[in-house]
Amino acid sequence: MASSSVDVKMLHKKYIEERDKRLHNGNRDFIDPIGYFPDFDRDPWAIERITRDAITEEVDVVMTGAGLAAELAAAHLHDAGVTNIRFIDEAGDFGGVWYWNRYPGIRCDIESYIYLPLLEEVGTMPREKYSSGKEILEHARAIARHYDFYSKAIFQTKITGATWDEASDRWHITTNRGDVIKTRFMIGTSGYLHRPKFPNVPGIMDFRGRIFHPSRWDFSYTGGDSDGDLVKLKGKRVGLIGTGATGIQIMPHLAKYAYRTYLFQRTPAAVDVRNNRPTDVAWFKSQIPGWHVERMDNFHAAVSGEPIERDLVDDCWTRAAGRLFKSTAGGVNSNDPADAIEALQRYDYELMQSLRDRVDKVVKDRKTADSLKAWYNLFCKRPLYSDDYIECFNEPSVRLIDTDGRGVERFTKTGIVANGQHYDLDCVIMASGFQVGAYEPKTATYPIRGRTGQTLADKWAGGVRSVHGLWTHGFPNFQVVGTILQAGVSFNYMWLARQHAIQAAAMISRALREDVASIEVTQDAEDRWAQTMQSKAQDRTHFEEECTPGYFNNEGNSSSPTLFMQTYGGGAFEYFDILRRWRESDYQNDTVVKRAAQSRKSALEPA
Ligand code: NDP
Repeated sequence: MASSSVDVKMLHKKYIEERDKRLHNGNRDFIDPIGYFPDFDRDPWAIERITRDAITEEVDVVMTGAGLAAELAAAHLHDAGVTNIRFIDEAGDFGGVWYWNRYPGIRCDIESYIYLPLLEEVGTMPREKYSSGKEILEHARAIARHYDFYSKAIFQTKITGATWDEASDRWHITTNRGDVIKTRFMIGTSGYLHRPKFPNVPGIMDFRGRIFHPSRWDFSYTGGDSDGDLVKLKGKRVGLIGTGATGIQIMPHLAKYAYRTYLFQRTPAAVDVRNNRPTDVAWFKSQIPGWHVERMDNFHAAVSGEPIERDLVDDCWTRAAGRLFKSTAGGVNSNDPADAIEALQRYDYELMQSLRDRVDKVVKDRKTADSLKAWYNLFCKRPLYSDDYIECFNEPSVRLIDTDGRGVERFTKTGIVANGQHYDLDCVIMASGFQVGAYEPKTATYPIRGRTGQTLADKWAGGVRSVHGLWTHGFPNFQVVGTILQAGVSFNYMWLARQHAIQAAAMISRALREDVASIEVTQDAEDRWAQTMQSKAQDRTHFEEECTPGYFNNEGNSSSPTLFMQTYGGGAFEYFDILRRWRESDYQNDTVVKRAAQSRKSALEPA
């Protein structure tokens, strides 16, 4: 880190001023582009429309999605001997977010050796420390081939409803292809980044140029592919909205190919170096069995500030988060001495100063450099890493339109108005994020009706209520995999999804072995988990209130609990231990278990 001394008082004042600009300005409402923009109702990657007859069948388990979390769940089920399964996905292949998001520059910012699931099982060696989206998609396909998942998947198929039938103890799932699939268990694997959002900027529907979200990239318009090479942008004026993990990966490619690229910036990104490099083949081959999970555990320990002998991943995440996230996630609490808290805040100021110093070193134009400096604590937003984002502002084709926290004012037929000035544009790319949230109610697209007929969206309208974030009262034989609310979280999403997959496979395989017809968590168990959540809650209020708005702090709206405050405050290791103890117990205090004999009897009874 470059800077050793910082003016703490000045920085605090500056951070609050910058936050206030954004709290009171900038349109933070959003619209769901699905249904408004035709692009969202079609799959840009579908080579052909699959034709098939409607399916009527009964299986043991349905996965409501075919992303990496679904594959993890199915792989663990496979290992437990459960293979009568079905994946249903709107996409045309496995991969989930990596299927939809193929924008130029797409790469995962979590190290490939811990992010990519099932590396040892499938025998994949990632090519680089941080994998491209293309490589991750290839790996998703390799997993599917390895476990014979292709024969169990129906793609280009939207679920239209899932209803629990109490008489037969089956979920009845219907689709837009006329399928009726009955299943004993349903695993919710929709993920939490599959619903894009557009800011509700006046006139957005009027723009007559090309407009799309990165998760529906139009290569027929730009040319190239996810490696770049956007040759068709030559001569085009392109606007980019968004300086998050997505926007900063796209920007260097636009800068290289478009005649003019305007980045409409509401908040500057805090970007550290990524330092990507090819895999050291000898090192990779020298890993001993079990290394993969050990490395995932080591990463989480490092970023949680847990004591470790050696930081195996050793990157910007482990170096910064090990100290800072612990403090901001409540690892430092009100009983800690004030000087410890102060020291951490100082470290944060210094780290952010080093990022601002880097901007000064790299960017030639002073005004642009000043505009690119981020004034907030590192974990107010997801930290960002890139080796070419800051650099691309030296390209003569690039214009940074710093809206000083206000965002763009409006769209017109021919462009965007920002800071009172009109910019003529041929194309606008909306890297404006996703509806981040729980499985329901924000992100599901179809009703899930439980035992009483209530939908999950209705049940969770006032907030998620669950046991461990995974099971919920009134919805038997249904578990979510990869959820984040009411669960322990990690920056490595796949590590979390793996634990959920283990849980689902253990519970389901045991239920099938023991001829259990249905298993449902009780209201009492749900209430107890709510109490546990409350007793473990880390109070991030002060930290988050001082943050610039973003999806970590409800866009600065403090009237409801923020994302992290709805996660398990005791940390992921403790949470995983709770899951392990639960599945190894007979969980009878928390569940109502119905045997198959009881179920058959009730099915024969007249309604
Ligand atoms: P984000 O929500 O992180 O960013 C959205 C961006 O759009 C913000 O910069 C926001 O500005 C900007 N924006 C929204 N409305 C306006 C407006 N009216 N005017 C100007 N700017 C506006 O979305 P991303 O898609 O970048 O990332 C979402 C998440 O996806 C990540 O946090 C991460 O979890 C995941 N992801 C992970 C990757 C990985 O490598 N693992 C890669 C890509 C995404 P402001 O900052 O002012 O709010």
